[in-house]
Amino acid sequence: MTDTSEPAWFPIALRLDDVRVLVVGGGMIAANKVRLLLAHRAKVDVIATRLDDEMRRWEEDGTITHIATTADEGALRAALPGCRLVYAATDDRETNRAVAAIAREMNIPVCAVDDPQPSTFITPAQIHRGLVRIAISTGGAAPVLARRLREQVESSIPEGTGELAIFMQQQREYVGRACPDISRRRRVWETFLDGAGAQAARQNETARARAILDDIIAGTTTRGEVWLVGAGPGDPDLLTLRALHMMQNADSVLYDQLLSPALLDRVRRDAELVFVGKRRNRHTMPQEEINAELVRRAQAGQRVLRLKGGDPFVFGRGGEEIEALLESAIPFQVVPGITAANGCAAYAGIPLTHRDCAQACMFVTGHARADGTLHLPWDSMARPGQTVVIYMGVSALPALCARLEEHGLPADWPAAIVERGTRADQRVLTGTLASLPRQAASAGVGSPALIIVGEVVRHRVISPA
Ligand code: SAH
Repeated sequence: MTDTSEPAWFPIALRLDDVRVLVVGGGMIAANKVRLLLAHRAKVDVIATRLDDEMRRWEEDGTITHIATTADEGALRAALPGCRLVYAATDDRETNRAVAAIAREMNIPVCAVDDPQPSTFITPAQIHRGLVRIAISTGGAAPVLARRLREQVESSIPEGTGELAIFMQQQREYVGRACPDISRRRRVWETFLDGAGAQAARQNETARARAILDDIIAGTTTRGEVWLVGAGPGDPDLLTLRALHMMQNADSVLYDQLLSPALLDRVRRDAELVFVGKRRNRHTMPQEEINAELVRRAQAGQRVLRLKGGDPFVFGRGGEEIEALLESAIPFQVVPGITAANGCAAYAGIPLTHRDCAQACMFVTGHARADGTLHLPWDSMARPGQTVVIYMGVSALPALCARLEEHGLPADWPAAIVERGTRADQRVLTGTLASLPRQAASAGVGSPALIIVGEVVRHRVISPA
């Protein structure tokens, strides 16, 4: 049922080129509207007792016309017939309402700023990317909510959307001629928007975009590609906008156990999810098979998302995967992610470098070889003045701590372990090389966990509640 007590606002896009608009008011509220109107090439007349700086500058250089100093009935009745829209934008609600009443009586659309009740139109919050406009409105009920929604929508629109719209505008006639059938034409554009062509157009690579469009029209397109994307350490808010965009556009997603379920929830519902987890001693799919799977799917024309925990190029074997793609001439893109060291450090409150005690930071892997040995640059790791971050080191924690002591770090050297960093159930234990293995064992710390060794651990800070 429609609620008839609320106005039913109908969104339209108005052409303002050379349209005369009356703005009543000379302060900041009026200036905000005038700025918007000028950007849309309107001609602005102003009635105001006095003009604030910005308005005065417009008046002085002839951009706007100051037609009267009082918004009395006589001035309004003289000014209104030449205008097509009115903004009542003084800081006095009664004045605005009086202006609105006269405008309504003369059948001229009027907006009393921040006061929907006497208004006949409202100006929504806007997102503006070239030809693309998105307007968001709560019918004047909750402007702050509208602004927040605008931020959310804005962040989900990929960079280059304006360029994409221009490309499509330029190719419209050509596609119309090439595909007279309307439903086939729609399918061509949909395929184009989903694939590498749209990406090329967004980046202003017009020739490449056109070549891909031609392939689609000719029906010869099997251009799959692989996106190697870092998903960060677990908190979905740490996804990059680009990662999120790709998660919502992929045909299939290959992921392993490092991916938290909260992240997988963000993947497009009808994408095929393929688990290629590599648990120690339980190799679900060896790396060569993962590489082959990526190639096979891309060759079948899919947009394949290889979603990785953290960053794909930090202990992520991303390098090996793109080498395999290159060998098969599969186009790929790599998207960085927040690596576990950055995510865990920030969410645990432990800085990775510190002016007083850590001028360098080293990332190493604590993953033991098949024979159980650890091959690490112990001498360069066991030094003061730096932080050592150890990935994949949970099972080797006792050995790691012992070797660092053997190579010269004191037994009371600070060390921490962050389990499931950035996730809702993150745990942080701090101690020393001597105490940490015992602490971790009795707390039952499991994978994924990151070890941080160095005096920065003493600088841990936790925000007051
Ligand atoms: N490419 C990933 C690292 C893969 S290696 C990245 O850049 O983060 C896997 C190791 O990363 C785990 O054994 C663990 O040491 C670390 N790790 C990944 N996510 C983690 C998390 N949320 N909390 C703690 N450690 C994590």
